Amino acid sequence: MSTTIYGTGVSRGIAIGKVHRLAGTEIEIFEAAIPAHLIEDEISRFRQAVYTARQQLKAIRNSIPEDTSVDITAFIDTHLLMLEDSMLTVAPAELIRQRQCNAEWALKSQRDALARVFEKMDDPYLRTRKDDIDHVVSRIQRILRGEETHTALEDSEQLRDAIVIAHDLTPAETALLHHQGIAGFVTESGGPLSHTAILARSLGLPAILGTHVTPDWIRDGDTVILDGAQGILLTDIDNAVLKRYRRRQKANQKRRTELNRLKDKPAVTVDGVRICLLSNVELHEDVLAARRAGAEGIGLYRTEFLFMNREDIPDEKEQLRQYHSIIKTLKGLPVTIRTLDLGADKSCGSEPEADHIVPNPALGLRAIRLCLKHPDLFRPQLRAILRASAKGPVRMMIPMLSSAHELNEVLSLIEDVKHELRREGTAFDPDMPIGGMIEVPAAALSAGLFARKLDFLSIGTNDLVQYTLAIDRVDDAVTYLYDPLHPAVLRLIKMVIDAGTQYRTPVSMCGEMAGDPRHTRLLLGMGLRDFSVHPTSLLEVKDVIQHSRIEQTTPVANEILDTDDPLIISGLLARLNESSE
Ligand code: PEP
Ligand code: MG
Repeated sequence: MSTTIYGTGVSRGIAIGKVHRLAGTEIEIFEAAIPAHLIEDEISRFRQAVYTARQQLKAIRNSIPEDTSVDITAFIDTHLLMLEDSMLTVAPAELIRQRQCNAEWALKSQRDALARVFEKMDDPYLRTRKDDIDHVVSRIQRILRGEETHTALEDSEQLRDAIVIAHDLTPAETALLHHQGIAGFVTESGGPLSHTAILARSLGLPAILGTHVTPDWIRDGDTVILDGAQGILLTDIDNAVLKRYRRRQKANQKRRTELNRLKDKPAVTVDGVRICLLSNVELHEDVLAARRAGAEGIGLYRTEFLFMNREDIPDEKEQLRQYHSIIKTLKGLPVTIRTLDLGADKSCGSEPEADHIVPNPALGLRAIRLCLKHPDLFRPQLRAILRASAKGPVRMMIPMLSSAHELNEVLSLIEDVKHELRREGTAFDPDMPIGGMIEVPAAALSAGLFARKLDFLSIGTNDLVQYTLAIDRVDDAVTYLYDPLHPAVLRLIKMVIDAGTQYRTPVSMCGEMAGDPRHTRLLLGMGLRDFSVHPTSLLEVKDVIQHSRIEQTTPVANEILDTDDPLIISGLLARLNESSE
């Protein structure tokens, strides 16, 4: 009889493999008294462990291919720097001497003291730094205990095809684990809209988040099944269950092969309506995946990933280099570069305001609000995007707009930067389209205002759902309330699409809802014609489009918009999705 662990399935797919638990902070440490004449030996033992940890990380750093994105290597560099820092190297040695205790206990005491300081600060960036300290400390502890340190950042062999179980994973760790060949992962914390979840989907890694606990009796090497669609992890599996899942895995594989045949086919409905299918990307390698999936361009490039896991802010030159390299990879396809969406859960630590404690970060100075307040952060990016537009089809997109005043301020800043470039004789495309994301209910309710002044709009349902339903997208305690089919959300989406039609401003959708094939027909029926989705969802969405008829989806979508009964909505949606073409 198998046992089931439940969480939130955030990235579909079935993975069958051996468990690999990632070292958390849960290693039990005891204090032991060290006789005075052995203190120096104990200190040497500690120093040797730090040295070994450093060597291990350097080995990992060197084993990463050169084309790996800088954010991942920077993440390892941060850990290496910590291993040079006196707070982790000198202070524990002092403690061994003063307390005459074992190295493990001294290191634990120092870690706890540092954690207390970080906890008091209650700042997202520093919390991330605290996690980094825990990762580094845990590596040294395991070396001290003589354990094999097979953590996420090493030992590719143990990680290949493994199902990783961790308390939490950062987006950078997730990308690295993917690179090391894991089959899927489970974390105790996190929700479906966290950036780790979004990355898992874009990497095509089956994943479950927010299991709260993963019992101790699940051990390294146990064979388990991860069902990302159902959000379950099966342990103690018998042969019958294993066979059933292997069959499903094969069927999924077959389906993927079938879908691949759609790659070069246009996204056209049965009644001849042409739909534009673009891709969302975070890392440079996603751009290649988007091209492989046959995307017609990039509808959302989240530039904040370029700013994460590093100590400094990339300057105009570095940003320009990155944009050029994406333009080159796209070979003439358009890219929509979203200006920085930092703040709230996406702090990079070095941005202005990063050390301010704010009561509600998601409602605070994030995205365009932060950028407008700090032109020194924003202007170099505006310059880099404009300059990149001289090299290929680039669109600029502004996140989280909420008022006319804000919109006017951004547009006049962009004009100002254009004048500056003209004065300098620097090339850019004067007609580069400028669009805005509609992700705040206020913006959706006054979409006409944005549609009149901008060249395109893109609906960010991840935030639109968060702000409309008042649920923090990273808090797994309220994940159960996340519902893109809530009548309020659907009506807001419809208002944006209608405003676009009225002012002849193209409207696309780049939130997660656009990539969920269960919502494709509904969105088509509501009038959406441009979708931007993860490369991994693109062909499935295209398949649904090719089997849909607009004249059938429109009346059902209208019926859905007319009701506020969730049962009627789900019944109508099921009917809409069942009808075959
Ligand atoms: C959104 O909010 O829907 C969106 C696409 O932006 P992000 O997920 O990066 O906040
Ligand atoms: Mg958003």
